[in-house]
Amino acid sequence: MREFGYQRASDVAGAVALLGADPDARFLGGGTNLVDLMKTGVERPARLVDVRELPLDRVEMTAVGGLRIGATVTNGDLAAHPEVRRRYPALAQAVLAGASGQLRNMATVGGNLLQRTRCGYFTDVTKPCNKRVPGSGCPAVAGEHHNHAILGASDHCVAVHPSDMAVALTAFDAVVHFETANGPGELPLAEFYLPVADTPHRETALPPGALVTGITLPPAPTAANSRYRKVRERASYAFAIGSVAAALDIRDGVVRDVRLALGAVASRPWRAVEAERVLTGAPADAETYAAAADAELTAARPLPHNGYKVTLMRNLMVAVLTELAEEAAR
Ligand SMILES: Cc1cc2nc3c(=O)[nH]c(=O)nc-3n(C[C@H](O)[C@H](O)[C@H](O)COP(=O)(O)OP(=O)(O)OC[C@H]3O[C@@H](n4cnc5c(N)ncnc54)[C@H](O)[C@@H]3O)c2cc1C
Ligand code: SF4
Repeated sequence: MREFGYQRASDVAGAVALLGADPDARFLGGGTNLVDLMKTGVERPARLVDVRELPLDRVEMTAVGGLRIGATVTNGDLAAHPEVRRRYPALAQAVLAGASGQLRNMATVGGNLLQRTRCGYFTDVTKPCNKRVPGSGCPAVAGEHHNHAILGASDHCVAVHPSDMAVALTAFDAVVHFETANGPGELPLAEFYLPVADTPHRETALPPGALVTGITLPPAPTAANSRYRKVRERASYAFAIGSVAAALDIRDGVVRDVRLALGAVASRPWRAVEAERVLTGAPADAETYAAAADAELTAARPLPHNGYKVTLMRNLMVAVLTELAEEAAR
């Protein structure tokens, strides 16, 4: 591991200024991803600006009835928060489905959003990788890709985003707030992660040097009947091979409102807009759920060794919608 400098920021403006003073500096949240990447040489910052003591560690109601979640709230505190569990249960479930208790107590909301892909070529500095070294190639396309993308990928990169939390946030139309040297800004999560295209090294639309300060969730009564389901290769302590965050509102047997987002299928959390379109206003039955899943997956372009994900995601969407409908009927 290379030598690096370390500074702890105590206020937001100071954190942004410290980072701006050094082009090779990085913000440090819980360090559960960044420090691992430093150990393997994927990340080589000259300086770390620790943001864990910034006053951004609260989960609060907004004036309009949504939630504001500070960037340094730990994943553990987020999942345990009573308002998160009551009003956005899929978010609490998604966070709890990730990592381990110890890691969740260290990991922050800001760091979770910005964690990097687990593609084995990305984390191995002896291999080419367009995301790590632009223009060097993507060995995953013809190589190991059983857990790579089936939606929205390009020949330049087929990696998936690893966050569970971000999938639930995508379903609930979260907005990311940030601070820069030029003032504050915000981005809907739907625009926060960039499409992969031919620039996989550009992952988010955050301006350079921006500090994520928090997330807001708009009020969403439908979210109270929501669920996150994650499929992984072993029962715990593993990243998703496919996941679904869904919320469903059914009245008189008809779908009145639905939120659906998919994880581990694309370079970013995938809002299932086609499925939502088929579901909205349709009879709440198995036929509709299957038609919605099929509509979403029409765009799937599996690689030779990850075609199983198309079937998996179809079954997962149908199963989660069926469970939510049964729960709503009780
Ligand atoms: C063994 C293991 C298993 C895991 N399993 C899962 C899993 O199943 N599901 C899952 O979703 N995740 C999983 N994770 C990932 C874990 O959730 C992330 O490592 C964690 O959320 C990152 O948060 P952090 O605060 O530690 O980020 P850090 O490692 O500190 O930072 C990550 C990145 O975010 C940047 N950053 C941090 N805070 C800010 C900020 N406020 N503004 C701007 N940039 C910032 C850093 O510069 C860095 O680039 C696992 C991790 C490990 C080690
Ligand atoms: S899939 Fe993306 S991250 Fe993985 S090797 Fe290819 S370019 Fe790199």
